[in-house]
Amino acid sequence: MPVLVMKFGGTSVATLDRIKRAAKRVGVEVAKGYDVIVIVSAMSGKTNELVGWVNETSPMYDAREYDAIVSSGENVTAGLMALTLQEMDVPARSWQGWQVPVKTTSAHAAARIEEIPNDNIMGSFGNGMRVAVVAGFQGVSPEGRITTLGRGGSDTTAVAFAAAFDAERCDIYTDVDGIYTTDPRVCKKARKLDRIAFEEMLELASLGAKVLQTRSVELAMRYKVKLRVLSSFEEQSDEAGTLVCAEEEIMESNVVAGVAFSRDEAKMTLISVADRPGIAALIFTALSDAGVNVDMIVQNISEEGRTDMTFSCPTDQVARAEAAMAEAKTTGTINFAELIADTEVAKVSVVGIGMRSHTGVAAKMFQVMSAEGINLKVITTSEIKISVLIDRKYMELAVQALHDAFELDKAA
Ligand code: ASP
Ligand code: MG
Repeated sequence: MPVLVMKFGGTSVATLDRIKRAAKRVGVEVAKGYDVIVIVSAMSGKTNELVGWVNETSPMYDAREYDAIVSSGENVTAGLMALTLQEMDVPARSWQGWQVPVKTTSAHAAARIEEIPNDNIMGSFGNGMRVAVVAGFQGVSPEGRITTLGRGGSDTTAVAFAAAFDAERCDIYTDVDGIYTTDPRVCKKARKLDRIAFEEMLELASLGAKVLQTRSVELAMRYKVKLRVLSSFEEQSDEAGTLVCAEEEIMESNVVAGVAFSRDEAKMTLISVADRPGIAALIFTALSDAGVNVDMIVQNISEEGRTDMTFSCPTDQVARAEAAMAEAKTTGTINFAELIADTEVAKVSVVGIGMRSHTGVAAKMFQVMSAEGINLKVITTSEIKISVLIDRKYMELAVQALHDAFELDKAA
């Protein structure tokens, strides 16, 4: 029988009533003839509560015990979901990560899945079981300890199971009804997309559209797992939600698929750095060692052997970046005049695989900004994305103007 993976996020299993609702959807797919693997998150708020308990008990906690505690929320929902399905006369059994087993690395709190042997669960399907309810977010290390995959990790569990079981599709049930052209809270005209390419979703996911864990999209792209994002609060239909898929499966799409933004960015400029081989390596090694996530980098024109180097990072990492640069200056590793931090900026990006074959997207984006009188502070591009740093107070305006100009409210 074909296998379907259905993942229910925290809000979709937040109460016993909602678990019942989710179980009914599972029942519908079982009735269609699927063997179903259900991946569950912890009830919403539960993981945060568990993390809080860990921090309160031991500020310098042992990561192995963190994982033992924080993974427990999913165990509860897995058991409750299996019981609910049994009450509906659907043969179901719960599985914790170690029972499958979901084999991971031993990087506690940030483990990566290495292998999911499918014989145990396949064997249970062969014996009349119709649903395997698997606790998401967790696995087992080579040392035999429980591991977790990082926050939001159940999405990655779901995609990994879909790949390991060659599932027909991986349905991600959440509290939004799909992927939008931009955040509807910022732009009222935002439109739900029927389909989006893996590459586009990756850009949108890492730019702050928090619907799917980025790693889950990378994994889906690698194994060509069809991912559908849909709401568990609305009526089910085969067309519901957004399908994240290979670009070959999208017939016609807009040149620009979406406008992403990230509000809390800072623009950092090192003034008058010696322009010599190895200087960028020194600066960005020091920043990386300090745990600063650098995004955009621009090296300016140099005069008399000195240049300005600009980079962007999240605002909450500015202090760390400043400390790292100050230390490098004191020890004499990096010589510069001053470090200027502009913490009132935001990043706005347009994303679309159509950019590979269409010219003029950058020109149009810049014209739109110019017409609104918005100054561009840094510009970077990739094959399918153009990003600009602008004053934060213009962020909403920029998103709305770009959404209008690229006519994202209309389907291709
Ligand atoms: N419950 C975990 C978290 O909140 C994993 C997940 O729900 O994806 O991060
Ligand atoms: Mg999530």
